[in-house]
Amino acid sequence: MKLIEKVREYLDEIQKNDQQGDKINAFLCINKHALKEAEEIEKKKARGRLYGYVLAVKSNINVQGMPVSCASKVLENYYGSYNATVIEKIKREDGVIIGMTNMDEFAAGGSGENSSFGATKNPRVLDRVAGGSSSGSAAAVAAGMCDVALGSDTGGSIRNPASHCGVIGVKPSYGLVSRYGLIDLSMSLDQIGVFAKNMEDAALVLDVIKGKDEKDATTLESNEIKLRNLKDIKIGVLKIKGVDKRVQKLIDEKTEEIKKNGFNVREIKIEHIELAVQTYYLLVFAEFFSGTRRFDGRRYGYKIEEKCGEEVLRRILGGSEITRAEFLGEYYQKALAVKELIKEEFAAAFKKVDCIMLPTVPGLPWKLGQGAKMNLEEVYAYDALTIPANLAEICAVSVPAGEIKEGQEEIPVGLQVMCAKNQESKMLSIAKMIM
Ligand code: GLN
Repeated sequence: MKLIEKVREYLDEIQKNDQQGDKINAFLCINKHALKEAEEIEKKKARGRLYGYVLAVKSNINVQGMPVSCASKVLENYYGSYNATVIEKIKREDGVIIGMTNMDEFAAGGSGENSSFGATKNPRVLDRVAGGSSSGSAAAVAAGMCDVALGSDTGGSIRNPASHCGVIGVKPSYGLVSRYGLIDLSMSLDQIGVFAKNMEDAALVLDVIKGKDEKDATTLESNEIKLRNLKDIKIGVLKIKGVDKRVQKLIDEKTEEIKKNGFNVREIKIEHIELAVQTYYLLVFAEFFSGTRRFDGRRYGYKIEEKCGEEVLRRILGGSEITRAEFLGEYYQKALAVKELIKEEFAAAFKKVDCIMLPTVPGLPWKLGQGAKMNLEEVYAYDALTIPANLAEICAVSVPAGEIKEGQEEIPVGLQVMCAKNQESKMLSIAKMIM
């Protein structure tokens, strides 16, 4: 299909199912110039690697001329004044950006319900959340409103909604992808990554956006990301407490199937994994608080405390408490020490196995509106299986593992595969082989 027709079809689909009627609410804004841009690309003689791809972008990544609101009233009137490095790279390779997606406000959340512009519905089970914080990006791919989408993942924000919506979601290793132009939740944990329907697309887009960037000092040189055929793979299975029985059963069945297909599977342990959630939230509260000091009303719209929602305010107040001068950074330092410990334990585990497998999320996507009734511990516990990869700075991907039936509904469940730092090619290759 010609690119222009493809863009038109996606725009129609968005118009029909996202902007009106029983709307999914995946997009906060459509790119009005998408068709024109597609026309320009068609006229070119040489075509880039992303020719033919239509992408959606999470609303915390700067795209010149598009609203980069972080789904917050605070930045409601902020339009990107430049392109993030990932956007530069996508445009250089002829990818077309179709719109900016919905998310939990400032990426703080795991359901999409913390958006100031309404929750995103899960396209596979419409009365449930899409997951978060990259709710709109996952839903847009799942609902067939784009080919691939970008999200950001601090503690699971790509993998969680990928799992809930039944698509692939990749969180790259720390430092693989430039974060220049990302409005981050936590600078020591965030990575930009990809949602896709198949592994080939995920690998291609990741290969395009990766790489050392002078504008982001944390980025590293990396090898080409491509799928390979691998042999003699050793898989480590992680069993963690607190996983919904139905989810664990589905993952166990999938593991059996993988064993039958000739993979070498054994159980492994990460001693301090149960400290991950507490450690993570301490780091995020402190770093988010310090990062938000720039939203003081002078440069970008409003003062954050005056306009933000409940969860963002909680993190600002909590962060200001943790970082109070008299504590001399004690809590933050402790959290960093535990992060280091978990990182070392993962590194040791990857000396014995090629990858680690576990569920992506310990429970099913909850019904829309239910998040407000849950207590904070329950909500934060949903991140228990995704956070460890961010703390360890390794790569992780969520792939669709099957569905759980509840009444008439068939609810998607994701399987998570983790590999050592900068082993994206290996990870995506294994994920494809076991899918
Ligand atoms: N749910 C987690 C949080 O609220 C993860 C968010 C993210 O990865 N951006 O912090």
